[in-house]
Amino acid sequence: MYEKLSRHNTVFDVHQINRERDGFEKSNEAFLDLARKAMVTDVFLTSVNGVSETGVMVNVDGTGNRVAGSLFGHKKVYFVLGVNKIMPTLEEAIYRARNVAAPKNVLRHGYKCGCSLQGGDRCYDCGAPDRICNVLAIYYKKMRNIEMEVILINEDLGY
Ligand code: SF4
Repeated sequence: MYEKLSRHNTVFDVHQINRERDGFEKSNEAFLDLARKAMVTDVFLTSVNGVSETGVMVNVDGTGNRVAGSLFGHKKVYFVLGVNKIMPTLEEAIYRARNVAAPKNVLRHGYKCGCSLQGGDRCYDCGAPDRICNVLAIYYKKMRNIEMEVILINEDLGY
């Protein structure tokens, strides 16, 4: 998506940062710079870690840029998610975000947290510096004064 969107738009995508290539300090500075720029774009593209069958969505976040950007600062926010994010209830969507999505994301990043040190089977509510679960956002309805669109794709996508 980054390549396609970049042909005709200015895109700030923190996923383009390569921590292995650039080292932690440089990549962290680049991340914060991109994350700040992405806070004031016209359009914000993101996803969620879980959604109930009644449509209540859930996200956990470590730095807060994803959750913050999903709530305010843009003209339009798109949430793109696969059907694997759907859970019967809000409680199960929260459980999924904390015990499935978060540990998998920790493993993907190579962070040393309670979950990754135990193989990523569930959350251990750790206090690690790399902890990515510092906020839990529950989207009951869309925010006021902003356009929001949920694009549900009939595939298993992401964590
Ligand atoms: S709180 Fe810690 S152990 Fe739990 S999922 Fe987040 S990073 Fe992993």
